[in-house]
Amino acid sequence: PAREEIFHFGAGPARLPTSVLARASVSILNHEDTGLGLAEHSHRSALCGKIVTDAVDSLKTLLSIPDDYSVIFMQGGGTSQFSGVVYNLLGYWMDYLVTGVWSQKASEEASRLAGEWMVNVAVNAKEANGGKYGKIPAEDTWKLTEKEKSIFTYFCDNETVDGVEFPAFPTVLAQDKERLVVADMSSNILSRRVDVSKYAVIFAGAQKNVGTTGLTMVIIRNDILANQPTLQTQRALGLPIQPIMFDYKTLAKNGSLYNTLPIFDVWIAKEVMQDLIAGGGLEKQEEISGRKSDKLYAALEASPEIYKIVTVPGSRSRMNICYRISGEGLEDEFVKLATKQGMTGLKGHRSVGGIRISNYNSITEEGADKLAAYIREFAESHKV
Ligand code: PLP
Repeated sequence: PAREEIFHFGAGPARLPTSVLARASVSILNHEDTGLGLAEHSHRSALCGKIVTDAVDSLKTLLSIPDDYSVIFMQGGGTSQFSGVVYNLLGYWMDYLVTGVWSQKASEEASRLAGEWMVNVAVNAKEANGGKYGKIPAEDTWKLTEKEKSIFTYFCDNETVDGVEFPAFPTVLAQDKERLVVADMSSNILSRRVDVSKYAVIFAGAQKNVGTTGLTMVIIRNDILANQPTLQTQRALGLPIQPIMFDYKTLAKNGSLYNTLPIFDVWIAKEVMQDLIAGGGLEKQEEISGRKSDKLYAALEASPEIYKIVTVPGSRSRMNICYRISGEGLEDEFVKLATKQGMTGLKGHRSVGGIRISNYNSITEEGADKLAAYIREFAESHKV
């Protein structure tokens, strides 16, 4: 089928805007009439330096990032930052809010690198919710480490596999100004406004809402870079030594160009972000994301006898909408019929099954409307 005939709701890598890919296909062959494709240009050239600066500036504009933060582009995907944040916040005690499989994985990596004794799982949503994710436990049940210690609290703002999203910045974390907060925003970054000043570190793999796989963005408050323990202290305390490519300070000092950065990927992210700015920024994007997800949830809620949404209101993700379909073989049929009509990528994650709609920025309102109509029709034609 032609690209225009497919509405792809896959969880990631996600679709990129066709307009950006059309420009990219020219750029990869002959970037701005230089006779070289963009992936062939030196990352040290003025041309590439400007692309990195423009990408950083676009992210700063979109998220209104305060001046005392650095933005760095790295490689290795969201998972590499499960290790990255631990290496760069050495010496802090760690509280993990485990609300889905990605924060679970991040907490396991923290225990593996720093030792279990340094990691406190302050929330285990699976245990609290009868053995499955789908609900963020009430804040008064969180077992956060007491305030006298230097602590960072880690959470995953949007759990891609489980369809769980924090509706807002947690109140209990906002009350404790000393506590550093680290968030994985891989699957909801640039879908709503964020008060960056509340965070010590925000990271995101680019491949859902921003760009291509592998490129990773890290936003970090500068005083954290300045206060890192010296190598001598790390050695004396037996703390792990970060591999140089995980060292935020080194990358920030070198403007993300400590080694060969994949500039083509940075350029794609830049183009996506510049288009978002031109289209009204995150205020607009938040409005669109909300409208699309409201329509999809409403279509599912209209037929509760067949569709079982796996998350509870208040914890429901606008980006990943997860549900089960009651009835022998109906999930397979739902996916098969949808695919026939050009709606692909709807199968749930292999670890949990069911159906998952990924409603990222590149899903148009037309695409969300088409899927919502299909959800209603499918329920109508499979009434018991
Ligand atoms: N964090 C979240 C929230 C994700 O959704 C994903 C991937 O889907 C990751 C981390 C891991 O990203 P990567 O595959 O780029 O390592």
